[in-house]
Amino acid sequence: MSRFFIELAERWQRRWREAKVFEPEPSPGTSKFFVTAAYPYPNGAIHIGHGRTYLIADVLARFNRHMGRFSLFPMGFHYTGTPILTIAEVIAAGDKTVMEEYMEIYGVPEGEIRKMGDPLYLARYFHQQSKRAMERFGLGIDWTREFTTIDPEYQRFIQWQFEKLRKKGLVVRGRHPVGWCPRHSMPVGAHDTKDDKEPDIGQWTLIYFADGEGLTFPTATLRPETAPGVTNLWINPDADYVVAELNGRRMVVSRDAAFRLSFQDEVKVLREARGREFVGRWVQNPVTGEWVEIYEARFVDPKVGTGVVMSVPAHAPYDYAALRDMGLERLIPLIKVEGYGEYPAKEVVERMGVKSQTDPALEEATKEVYSAEYSRGVMREDVADLVARHLPEPARSMVRAVFRMFFAGRPVKEAREFISKWLVESGLGGVMYDIMNKPVYCRCGTEIVVKVLEDQWFLNYGDPKWKEAARRLIEEMAMVPSDAKAHFLATVDWLDKRACARTRGLGTPLTWSPGWVVESLSDSTIYMAFYTVIKKIRRFGLKPEQLTEEFWDFVLLGVGDVGEVAKKTGVSPEALKAIREEFEYWYPLDSRNSGKDLIPNHLTFFIFNHVAIFPREKWPRQIVANGWVLREGEKMSKSKRNVLPLDRAVEMYGPDPLRATLAIAAEVEQDLDFRDAETRRNAQQLMAIYTLVQRIAQTAEDRAPSWLDLWLASEVAQILERVKEAYQRVRVRQAAVDVLYNAKSAFDQYLSMVERPSKLAVEAAKAWVIAMEPIAPHLAEELWAVLGGGGFAASAPWPSLKADPAALLAKRYVDMLIEDVKKIPAFGPGTRKVAVYVNRRFEWAKAALSGDIRAAIQAGAPPQAAKRLVDLLKSLGEEVRSLVASVEKFDELEALTSYKPYLEKTLGASVELYDAEDASAPDLGGKKKAALPLKPGIYLSS
Ligand SMILES: [Zn+2]
Repeated sequence: MSRFFIELAERWQRRWREAKVFEPEPSPGTSKFFVTAAYPYPNGAIHIGHGRTYLIADVLARFNRHMGRFSLFPMGFHYTGTPILTIAEVIAAGDKTVMEEYMEIYGVPEGEIRKMGDPLYLARYFHQQSKRAMERFGLGIDWTREFTTIDPEYQRFIQWQFEKLRKKGLVVRGRHPVGWCPRHSMPVGAHDTKDDKEPDIGQWTLIYFADGEGLTFPTATLRPETAPGVTNLWINPDADYVVAELNGRRMVVSRDAAFRLSFQDEVKVLREARGREFVGRWVQNPVTGEWVEIYEARFVDPKVGTGVVMSVPAHAPYDYAALRDMGLERLIPLIKVEGYGEYPAKEVVERMGVKSQTDPALEEATKEVYSAEYSRGVMREDVADLVARHLPEPARSMVRAVFRMFFAGRPVKEAREFISKWLVESGLGGVMYDIMNKPVYCRCGTEIVVKVLEDQWFLNYGDPKWKEAARRLIEEMAMVPSDAKAHFLATVDWLDKRACARTRGLGTPLTWSPGWVVESLSDSTIYMAFYTVIKKIRRFGLKPEQLTEEFWDFVLLGVGDVGEVAKKTGVSPEALKAIREEFEYWYPLDSRNSGKDLIPNHLTFFIFNHVAIFPREKWPRQIVANGWVLREGEKMSKSKRNVLPLDRAVEMYGPDPLRATLAIAAEVEQDLDFRDAETRRNAQQLMAIYTLVQRIAQTAEDRAPSWLDLWLASEVAQILERVKEAYQRVRVRQAAVDVLYNAKSAFDQYLSMVERPSKLAVEAAKAWVIAMEPIAPHLAEELWAVLGGGGFAASAPWPSLKADPAALLAKRYVDMLIEDVKKIPAFGPGTRKVAVYVNRRFEWAKAALSGDIRAAIQAGAPPQAAKRLVDLLKSLGEEVRSLVASVEKFDELEALTSYKPYLEKTLGASVELYDAEDASAPDLGGKKKAALPLKPGIYLSS
């Protein structure tokens, strides 16, 4: 069956291309819709996860085209930086696993894979393969605006952007911690890591415990405020440690910590040692002056912090449990927390029944104590008396006075900040950065560390004014799903300086700093604007060197005099004006679409950079962030070899069944589980639609519309109204369910009721086909042609089919009658004849709708009938009630007459219809007077 859909698609793709259906030119006066989806890194072929995001963008573009807007959906390719480079390097190094993955998953021939050690070759290869997949998938992309991020015009554009940011003081150089690949010697962000994991950079406070013989043991802690409560230190006896020169001291740290610290400070390793060498040594607490012993503990992880840990049993459940195992219990209380006694750690450990230091419940206990103390804890007033016991007067009193002022009696948050600063300033401690969500691996497989860069270029996302403007845009813009806003706001809060340039990889050089190239998450923030201008830049044959700051200022910001800019750049005023017009027409961007994984990085940077560069009226209007795509319930990953490339999926199922499945299997923000069986089911459904529409087109007759014909048109009109609303709200699944399944059911039912379809059914089918076009565009074009629609379905205006409430009411009424007949106990296979007595006083029913018996009596209903009628109307569903309200005249007898063949077929008996007020009609079983409007009297005979 996939062959059928592929051939059909190829035919229409060719015609779209020939007719340039998706290559809009600006048309001032006509409204527009501009949508973009995140362009891919061509470091592999795009898969069905990309396909889902692009499909949603395509559906929006196609729907808006039906709404009479000029729709633009362009695409480019992101060659920049390490995502491409790292893969090429790995292949160049002959990595068997990666090469096999590429051959098996992406079908790369062996001869080609060897050439992919060249990053440019690799990028060009997958660029072409992905582009072909997008075309075959039926995306209505305007390829005349295609570009790559290493095109010279693009580089000019990015250079302009960075000059702008620099002049606004948003690009800064300085000392800052970044995620770092030791092998590549390069900053690493989310798109450089395996599984796109954003490295979480945190900070330890180091506290220097000295042994009096020239060695310092720097403990690493996140809770420096507990330093006055230290009873001992922990060291792992089996782990590797070193003695190293660091910050002018001879320090003992784990060998792993020395390696990590070497990216942040000068570290000179003097000798290696095992942890056990230091067990039993006494060291002095620099805060209290107290001497404490170093104990051994195998739970100390040399990969975390310095590998030297302070023990605070009153407030740390692990410490308490470990000391209890050793038969030691010395508790120094520091923090008061409502709901806990003096020793929260002990209390929680005992309450949870923790057995020993290896009990997994300690994790939970630690979380509870830490969070309670951090959010509600207050330092005890007497902690100041613990401090500086070793200092002579007056130093002791001076230090204690400072602690009384800023530490004792203060909330834990404040006390922590104070003591951390005090330790660093007084030289008794320091700071160490670390990856808090470790391990995070570079794409090359190396575990990343934190490096403090001295002369790195940063985008200063920490700038408060910049953050404020970003928040304003987030508040203003539409988001699908709407709860993504909170996620964006949280990201804006924590974002700080971000390294924006690298010294390797493809991309755009910084103009003012030779040797630096703008990295990939920084050169992809406002490129949607570039789509609007590149077509005419090429058409007018502009050279890259003409694309100066004045050029971009004029076309993107409207700054400068066209004559002067023309003189300076050598670009004609006509070209400048035409390019400016194009930008003015398409911008702002109406919808930005991507996977939800890009919220904390790309999409937030997109917001930041738009507010920095463009005036408010050019800020983007909407973000759509879709969920993941799983395959048969599992995450797709190269190592599992279950990644489904888009071109292979098209080959397996055909583009329309694939599109239908990616649209229908989950609502936009949910994760979608792609299943083979479901895709085949959708293919069958599309095939059934194809057959059904063919039948309507071939058998339709020209006749005055019957109640049934009117019903079909009304039912379809109603469904399409829902579909329109769903498209507008980016409820793509809802739209697909209605248009592919519910509308199909209505047609099925219609065909089962009529001998032959009417021309009105053809009109309803045309309307239906337009509504399904965004989801199954190739099938829609084929059916549009079959139905005799002119031009392309893709360009047809949204149908103006109107629902006739009387026709809808007639069908609901007939269905109710059938239900009523079937509910009569005497009804069965033996029933030969059904006599139906119709009360034609519809105005009584309308009056009874108010629930007021008197109103029905006033309308003419006899008192007894009025009471029954009010009860009847109350028992009807909301839909029927609103139909009754909106219909003025409704002749039940006429409606039933037209449905008579259907009634007889459904009931398997002959049906006689009588007007209950017709004196000449026989009164079988006295049912004449039982008839109420909307509730006929029924008499069965066998
Ligand atoms: Zn690396």
